[in-house]
Formats: sequence, structure tokens, C-alpha cells
Amino acid sequence: MTQRYRVFFKEIQKNFGERIFKITVNAGLTCPNVDGTKAKGGCTFCQESSYTGLTFQPGDSIQKQISSGMEYVKKRHKTAAFFVYFQNGTNTYAPLDRLKTIYETPFLFEDIKGMMIATRPDCLEKEVVDYLGELNQRTWLWVELGLQSHRNDILKKINRAHTVEDFVKASHELAEKKIKTSAHVILGLPGEEPSDSRSKACFLNTLPISAVKIHNLVVFKNTVLEKQFRQGLYDPLTLDDFTDQCIAFLEHLRPDILIQRINAHGPRDQTIAPDWSVNKWAALNSIHLEMEKRDSWQGKKLNIFFKSKAKLQEIKTNLLKDESIGLLG
Ligand code: SF4
Repeated sequence: MTQRYRVFFKEIQKNFGERIFKITVNAGLTCPNVDGTKAKGGCTFCQESSYTGLTFQPGDSIQKQISSGMEYVKKRHKTAAFFVYFQNGTNTYAPLDRLKTIYETPFLFEDIKGMMIATRPDCLEKEVVDYLGELNQRTWLWVELGLQSHRNDILKKINRAHTVEDFVKASHELAEKKIKTSAHVILGLPGEEPSDSRSKACFLNTLPISAVKIHNLVVFKNTVLEKQFRQGLYDPLTLDDFTDQCIAFLEHLRPDILIQRINAHGPRDQTIAPDWSVNKWAALNSIHLEMEKRDSWQGKKLNIFFKSKAKLQEIKTNLLKDESIGLLG
């Protein structure tokens, strides 16, 4: 079944002419939302162990994590090229010298084609953005910026301790350095309405971002969200509701924005709710089938941007033909 949205890794594969695998690395950095600098306790949903890489062993150096990850993939695939993904914590939250030591490590490996750095929009000092600009000249760099919600009242509710304005500022500063930015959003946050999925996409359309990572909200063990869930203060989305919201989001999203993922799942033994989220394919299959059934596609409802029906039709045809739109040249 053709995916009716612009799949990130397919576009990357076209660009490099080979399949690219992602190696998740834990650089050992903390977060200003955890260490008390911005807030305490972290985001209400955050549980770091729910997103540790497959081959990660506590104490492993960055170099060791990269070589173990590459070895693991190479055993299963004849040839392989890689992106290193710095995921855990806030990966620009350290003195510049330490960041430089971390981000020079992938250059020791020939098969590493690019880097993805996940961070918060309020942790990008000018000297860090300048350094990322330099890195961007030497490798394929993506900065993944956490937004989660386009509403400050919701950000407050989930204890993000940054604002929507921080995100706008950071995305523009990165764009000035020609760094590709990916926005991380969650659908169905406590306090959000179903219509927020639509307005979240419309908000992102106004920003210089190149990709989006969409997550459903998962209640992990030992989080504030778990307490809220047990007290009846948070009701997770059903699979049908998440499917509806995700499709509404995609239909209102600019068709040039690449989709890095459309759902989240964690280890079964760490997941409290919703049950369907532990099955990676449940959400993917539901969204793909429903998009097909509704003849839905990324950008379908964007008549504000593309008033001409012919232009919208052209976008749809290209998506379904799976044609590259040369975004990554
Ligand atoms: S900003 Fe990221 S690492 Fe920090 S508490 Fe929130 S989710 Fe966790």
C-alpha cells in the first residue's frame, strides 16, 4: 500500500541511493527540565528508559554505541549506511567543548552519513547554533526540536517549561544556518481538543521546518502522567480517535514536510496505556487503511495555500506515484 504522506526515510534513500539505518546513541546529557534549571520532574510523560537503543549498555562510550549499533545492523543487512541519532535527554544542553567532543565522534566512522540531534527549543545558545551551522557544512545534519503542542497553556500543563515562542525563534535561527529542522509533536495531549491536531499542523506550516515526527501519547510507568491516568485525570485516545487526529493533522500539513514517524510505542513492560500502543503496527495499519478508504493524503485540506484544484491534484499524484520532490538536494 502506498503511503499517502511523504515518508522521511524513503526520501533519504532516494537522496543517498541506498538504505539508511538509524543508530540511537545516548550521549549521557541531562535536561534542564529534569535537573531543576528550568523545572523539576521533567515533562509529565517523560520516561527515559522507554526509548533506549537496542544495543545500548550502560557505561558504553559514544564510539562503542555507534560501533555496536552498526555491527547489529550489518549482521542483518549486506551493506548498510547510517545516521547517528542522539536521542536521550537534551543534546545541546552542555558546554560547547563537551558538545564538540560528542559530535566529532561520528566522523570517526566512514559509513555514517549524517546526524540527528534531538533537543529543546530553549537550549540553543548562539554559539551552539553557530557550531551546528559548521557541522551542517560537514555532514547531513537534522535537528529534532521538541514542540509537542502549539498552545502555551498545554505546554504548561505537561510541564515543558518552554514556550511556543521559543520554538518559533529556534526554528528560524536554525533555518538561517540552513540546518534542517524536524518538529516533534504529540497528538492527544491532556487538555487538547480533537481540532488541535488540525491547528497544530497549520501552525507548523508557517515555520521553516523540513520534517515532523508525530507521536501518540503513551502513559509510561513511574511518570506524572501515570498518576494522572490512575486518578482519572487523563483519558488516553482510542486507536480510532488517534487515527482520526493523525489523518486530520496530515491533511492540513504542507506536502513538502517529510514525515519521520506517525506513532510511538514503548516496551510492553513499561507501558501502562493505551494497550494498542504496544503494537507498532496497530496504529500504522489503522492510519494507512483509513487514509486509503477516505482517499486522504498529506496536504489534502490545504486550500488556503493551494487555491487551485489542479495544484492540489498534482501534489496528490506525485505523492501516490511516490515521486521525490527534490527536497533534500
Ligand atoms: S524535554 Fe525531553 S528529556 Fe527533558 S523532560 Fe521533557 S521529554 Fe524528557
